Amino acid sequence: MIPKRRTMTDAPTHEVKGDFPIHFHYTVGIVGEKFFYGLKDKKMLAVTCPDCSTTYFPPKMYCEDCFTELTDLEFKELPQEGTLESFTKVFLDHRGNPLDEPYHLGLIKVDGSDTYFFHRVFGEPEIGMKVKALWNDERKGSLFDLKGFEKA
Ligand SMILES: [Zn+2]
Repeated sequence: MIPKRRTMTDAPTHEVKGDFPIHFHYTVGIVGEKFFYGLKDKKMLAVTCPDCSTTYFPPKMYCEDCFTELTDLEFKELPQEGTLESFTKVFLDHRGNPLDEPYHLGLIKVDGSDTYFFHRVFGEPEIGMKVKALWNDERKGSLFDLKGFEKA
């Protein structure tokens, strides 16, 4: 006789209420470090896989298509324009509270890249619209050094 498979639906569940005071530091790694230093210098750095020619922005440590290691390669600077491939309007914060000012979050394919990048989009977005990067005057090596994108 074959034993009944246990599934997630009939497994006993337990709930623990409360807060866990966990503090951690996230390391961005070799490739992430180059990417964030690039943003600090108003540069959008990408890496191209030497085996399958996929260009990643943001850059990756390994090619997602062929698993080639990409850490020791030369990074190239992309132009600061791209195409808005999709977008959504954000009405709630990460805790579910209504925002005073909703904003648009876009899926952008930066020119010269084969991958997509999420960031804020200013103005009235339209799919297929050419966009250009907007930078903050004060930058510290963060994703928010880039304010977002607006119509080019
Ligand atoms: Zn590849």
